[in-house]
Amino acid sequence: MGIPLSQALVVGAYVVRQHLRGRKRYPLVLMLEPLFRCNLACAGCGKIDYPDKILDQRLPVADCMQAIDECGAPVVVLAGGEPLLHKELPEIVVGALAKGKYITVCTNALLMEKKLGQYQPHSRFNWSVHLDGDKEMHDRSVCKTGVYDRAVAAIKSAKARGFRVNINCTLFSNAEPERVAKFFDSVVSLGIDGITLSPGYAYERAPDQQHFLNRTRTKQLFRDIFRSEGKPRWPIFQSRLFLDFLAGNQTYHCTPWGNPTRTVFGWQRPCYLLGEGYAKTFKELMEDTDWDRYGTGNYEKCADCMVHSGFEASAVMDAVKKPWKAAKVALAGIKTDGPMAPDIPLDRQRPAEYVFTRHVEEKLVEIRKAEARTQEVVAAE
Ligand code: SF4
Repeated sequence: MGIPLSQALVVGAYVVRQHLRGRKRYPLVLMLEPLFRCNLACAGCGKIDYPDKILDQRLPVADCMQAIDECGAPVVVLAGGEPLLHKELPEIVVGALAKGKYITVCTNALLMEKKLGQYQPHSRFNWSVHLDGDKEMHDRSVCKTGVYDRAVAAIKSAKARGFRVNINCTLFSNAEPERVAKFFDSVVSLGIDGITLSPGYAYERAPDQQHFLNRTRTKQLFRDIFRSEGKPRWPIFQSRLFLDFLAGNQTYHCTPWGNPTRTVFGWQRPCYLLGEGYAKTFKELMEDTDWDRYGTGNYEKCADCMVHSGFEASAVMDAVKKPWKAAKVALAGIKTDGPMAPDIPLDRQRPAEYVFTRHVEEKLVEIRKAEARTQEVVAAE
C-alpha cells in the first residue's frame, strides 16, 4: 500500500464533504510550481522552455501560502522546474505543514543530499524523486550521465534520516515492461515508501516528440507491466482505479480542476499539463474556465493524455461514489487481458491552439513594468 491509511482517510473524508455540500468541481491536489528554472533539461519535459527573465521568477512564500489557502486542497505537491533551487522552499514546506496539508516535494535529487538538513521528517511530508527507470533508462531520459546514481544516493540518505521517500516514474514508448518491473523491484529494495506512475504527456515544446505514448500503447504497456507484477508487491502511491484506467479497464473523462496548478504566471488553465491561459485567483480559475473546451474528445491536445494529474482525481471521485468498484479491483486485481473499456471518440475534438508565445510575451511585459517601477522607486530615494 503506497498511500498511508491516514492520508487515504483524510482525502476520502474531504471528498465526501464536498459531495455533501453539493460542489460539482473541487480540488484534490494543489500543484504548486514556485519556479520554472531547472538544473536539468530532460528530453520529455515541456515545462522549462522559457526566456531567462521568466526562469528567474520565484513565487514568494506569501504567494505560496495564499495559493494553499485559496485552493483548500488537502494535498500540496511542490513541483517546477526544480523546487530545490527555490531558496525559500524549506519555509514553504513548513508553512504548508502548519496548515495541516500533506506535502510532496518533487525533485530530480541533484541537490537533495546537500539540502536534506534544511528539512525535518514528518508523517505528512514526502520526497518524490524523479526516476524514469534503471540507470541506463533514467540517465537517457534526463539526458545526463550519473543522475540515476545521485538520485539513488539521495534516496538512501533520506531514508537513513527517517524521511518518507517516493519515486515518480514517467514512462515513454521505449519502455520495456519486464525491465520496468525489475526496476520497481530494485527501488522497493531501497526501502522507498511509494511509486507514482505516469505515461508521458506529449508536451508540444518537449525536445523529444518521438517517444510519447498514444492511448492504445499506454494501456497495453501498463497491462504488460501489471502482468509482470503478478500479486501486488509494489507500493504504488495511486488509487487502484486509476491504475485500472491506465490498463484500459475504465473509461474516464479527465478532472483537470482536481489538480489545479499555480505557477509564476498565475492559476494555469486548464490543468497542470496545458497552459492555455491564466487566472488571477483560484475562484476565477474555477468559475470562469470553460471546462467543456478541454479533455479527451474535446480538444486535440488532450487526445492521448492519461496522466495522473488529469485522471487520478476522476478515479478517486469514482471510488467514493462507487466504492464497490474500487473494492472489486482491490480484491480481484487489475485485469491485464480481455477486451478494453471503450475509449472516448475523437471525431468532434477542436483543433489545437498555439498560445505559448503570447503568454511569454505578456509575462515579459509584466516583468519589465515591475522592473521599471522598482527603478523609479530606487531613483526617488
Ligand atoms: S486531458 Fe485533461 S488533464 Fe489531460 S491535458 Fe487535457 S485537460 Fe489536461
